[in-house]
Amino acid sequence: MLKGKTAVVTGASRGIGRAIAAKLASEGANIVINYVNRREEADQLTQDIENLGVKVLAVQADVSIFNQAQNLITRAKEEFGSLDILVNNAGITRDGLLMRMSEEDYDRVMDVNLKGVFNCTRQAVPLMVKQKSGRIINITSVVGLVGNAGQTNYAASKAGIIGFTKSLAKEIGSRNITVNAIAPGFIETDMTSDLPEKVKELSKESIALKRFGKPENVADAVYFLASGMGEYITGQVISVDGGMAF
Ligand code: NAD
Repeated sequence: MLKGKTAVVTGASRGIGRAIAAKLASEGANIVINYVNRREEADQLTQDIENLGVKVLAVQADVSIFNQAQNLITRAKEEFGSLDILVNNAGITRDGLLMRMSEEDYDRVMDVNLKGVFNCTRQAVPLMVKQKSGRIINITSVVGLVGNAGQTNYAASKAGIIGFTKSLAKEIGSRNITVNAIAPGFIETDMTSDLPEKVKELSKESIALKRFGKPENVADAVYFLASGMGEYITGQVISVDGGMAF
């Protein structure tokens, strides 16, 4: 149970972030949901989470902008008095072969996926150090472990998250703060819905379980790390990929 804990989930308005916010709330945590522009979806999620009997605050912030990420974390602390769990989930893709990739598409993916993790974590860590406890969970990807043609920018950002996670785990482990990453494989969300059917069928062949995962599968792993069950786990990358990269 996470009763009385405060969790911030970035990019929570839909997909995996939404499932994470709902799971942590169902386990009793008060939730700060971050959204960037889908206000209606954030309002709906706020309502759904309130119905679970916990407190919820929705904060608009583009995590790639330092001051906005700073405001997100500050608001969480002001509203609920502590910050126990940070889930860096916000992420985007701008796929394309390297020879055709624009500088803008490279930069945007790095700014949201990797710098966004820095921006939020930079603000959260001093609060967690003061509290002498905290859980940081970064959502990377199977692509950050094994690479994928057409995703050099995305893979670089996700591999960067893994280096960031391991380094920070070493830096702040003595402060009773764990830092881990979760590497999802193919999960059914907006991010994967656009893939052509043929690609989807082929992809399933490379998955031991022969099917895509659900956002809830990732949310369960986040809960595991955020709860007491995860207290002696840090610096790890946990794959939730149905058996893709092993
Ligand atoms: P999604 O596109 O459904 O959701 C992404 C979320 O991030 C959205 O809520 C979006 O508003 C938010 N976001 C985007 N830019 C933002 C910004 N600048 N600031 C704040 N929020 C921003 O995708 P998803 O599948 O739910 O992905 C969630 C995370 O899981 C991402 O980090 C993604 O890279 C990762 N992931 C997804 C899959 C998959 O198969 N779906 C696989 C591996 C990793």
